[in-house]
Amino acid sequence: MRLDNALINEIKNKVDIVEVISSYVTLSMRGKNYFGVCPFHDDHSPSMSVSKEKQIYTCFSCGATGNVFNFIQNFDHISFLEAVKKCADMCGVNIDIKPTTDYLANNKNKALYEMYELSQKLYQNNLNAKEGKLARDYLTKRNLSEREIKAFDIGLSLDGYDTLVKLLEKKGYTDKEILKSGLANANDDGLYDIYRHRIMFPLHDIYGHVIGYNGRAYDGDMTNKYVNSKETDIFKKRDFLYNYHRAKDSARAKKEIIIMEGPMDVIRAYTVGIDNVVATLGTAFGSSQSNLIKRLSSNVILCFDGDAAGLKATKLAIVELQKVGINPKIVRIPDDADPDEFISSKGKEAFQELLTKAYDVMEFKALLLKKESNLNTAEGLANYVNAMITEINGINDDILREVTINKLVKESGLDKETILAKLTPTEEVKVPVPKKIKKENRRYTESLNGLIYYMLNDPDIIKKYDKSHIYIPDKNYRSLAFQISAFYKKYGYIDEADLMTELRDDEEMLKVLGMIETMDTTSLSSDAIDDYIKNIVEQNRLEERKKYQQQLHQADDYDAKLAIGNKLIADKLRSEEND
Ligand SMILES: [Zn+2]
Repeated sequence: MRLDNALINEIKNKVDIVEVISSYVTLSMRGKNYFGVCPFHDDHSPSMSVSKEKQIYTCFSCGATGNVFNFIQNFDHISFLEAVKKCADMCGVNIDIKPTTDYLANNKNKALYEMYELSQKLYQNNLNAKEGKLARDYLTKRNLSEREIKAFDIGLSLDGYDTLVKLLEKKGYTDKEILKSGLANANDDGLYDIYRHRIMFPLHDIYGHVIGYNGRAYDGDMTNKYVNSKETDIFKKRDFLYNYHRAKDSARAKKEIIIMEGPMDVIRAYTVGIDNVVATLGTAFGSSQSNLIKRLSSNVILCFDGDAAGLKATKLAIVELQKVGINPKIVRIPDDADPDEFISSKGKEAFQELLTKAYDVMEFKALLLKKESNLNTAEGLANYVNAMITEINGINDDILREVTINKLVKESGLDKETILAKLTPTEEVKVPVPKKIKKENRRYTESLNGLIYYMLNDPDIIKKYDKSHIYIPDKNYRSLAFQISAFYKKYGYIDEADLMTELRDDEEMLKVLGMIETMDTTSLSSDAIDDYIKNIVEQNRLEERKKYQQQLHQADDYDAKLAIGNKLIADKLRSEEND
């Protein structure tokens, strides 16, 4: 199916550009607009403005501009339509592009996805076969029912040497492709399966394609308790969150997302009806993952293992989440247990109580700092206060800052002035200044900008432009005016963000729009439209005349000179008539 622009703009209307861009870049509100550091040039102070009203973004420094799709397209380096698909996913709109077929059709990694799909089918069959009895018994013993096995596509790799390799070879995949998949290794005898005699938990990408496995030992004395897939062209650990594709709808509906460490934690939570959960797979939580999380909800609960490694991971995840503007809540599981163990032994209610009692970040940090310092000694207390002051300096939220300061005043017994004196004031974000229109040929430039600016905002001006039949000498402005007029004729309204959908890959046009967005419009007036049009006509005539004069100068015979001279005279007469 081909997506028409009207449907694309419907999707655009369902998402808010401020919310979407916030999931990539931290934005703060200044006046009518939001500002953030521009991701499209080396920006240090926030130069990018995002307009909620117009649903467009514009960088005052590099001139990048566009609607929500252009942003995602440029940020994620994907096509415009892929960006549309991504937005549709975000707001839960089902567009008739099937991610699997459409996604795979032109995908250079098509073979990898297909091999994983085949492997998953094989593993699922194995678990249901006679040879899977021991594994099924093990799963039952671990209180995983048929429901969980189905929901999480759990399978089994048998004890064969190259069962999967043989299957993939039979399906026509080359050794090179099979090796690239990370499902096999090679030795002198050829390829052999990496996963043997393990319960297989498939890992999916955010669209639901299988891209790897977490293979668990289930009997005997296997050395590795579990084996995770190595990185491949389709499996990048930094972009991966276990169960993301299943949890996303629930997380959006519940307005909350819980992050755990392992697949078993997620599956155990599911058995007690908690399904808005993803897992990091024990790798460090990074910026890609925090951006994925931010798309689902800004209410995040970190629920890592209760051991020292889990504590360390929690601290790192807090830093990453705060970079994208999320202040997570933190659950610490008692007795070094993981969520799976806790829910299994203590039950659903006890776990839910842990969730409701989750610490906020400052409470959590204060708690850790208190554990490190002995508050009964003067030195310990001073250490604690100083450490807390460093933390408070890092808080951007004015209210949270104030609340935390007051708490510290109470705890430390110091007066507020003393603590305030040690704090650095919060930084004011500067709003970029619109660009002044260039001086040279100012009248003409201002007329061009004025005409386009008002055409973008007022259908009456578009009609006026159509009636005037003017020829705009500058090519970019000429085609932009033409495009605006054509858009209005086609849809019966004018909207800059929707126009950007129409112009999608025309970088030159977007550049001109960016220029107009960032210029100082205070000297423009819609009452001056007739003058703008006149000035443009006048400029066109000047340029025409210049062209003829140049031709006259270069013409080498008398007849040619005469023809050009006549054109010049006719042109002059025409202009006198008009004036
Ligand atoms: Zn920029």
